[in-house]
Amino acid sequence: MRHGAGRVLLLCMGSLYAFCCPGCGYSAEVSGGADCGFVAQTETMICTTCREVVDVTVGTRIPALISTDELNQCPECEGNDLTPWDESRPCPRCKGTMEVNPTGPTTLWD
Ligand SMILES: [Zn+2]
Ligand SMILES: [Zn+2]
Repeated sequence: MRHGAGRVLLLCMGSLYAFCCPGCGYSAEVSGGADCGFVAQTETMICTTCREVVDVTVGTRIPALISTDELNQCPECEGNDLTPWDESRPCPRCKGTMEVNPTGPTTLWD
């Protein structure tokens, strides 16, 4: 079953989570893993150039809307020096461990 796990179901809603590093204060709003919005499939990666955690578009269900030139590149610098974000959630700035904000998806904040 595709939606067997609650976590997968959550990610498929395209939610963003606030991750923050207690070591250096760096924070990022990303999906935290493989995600699938209506148009784009994204994966959370570290851009070595920007030293940022970013959601990278890795594929699309509607090829007419996204040029393949835009796939697998950093949304900030358009580079492709990307590393998949490890389950251990390493901070790209200080190599500490980033923690997810326990209040849940930032889209629910007001
Ligand atoms: Zn840090
Ligand atoms: Zn970048």
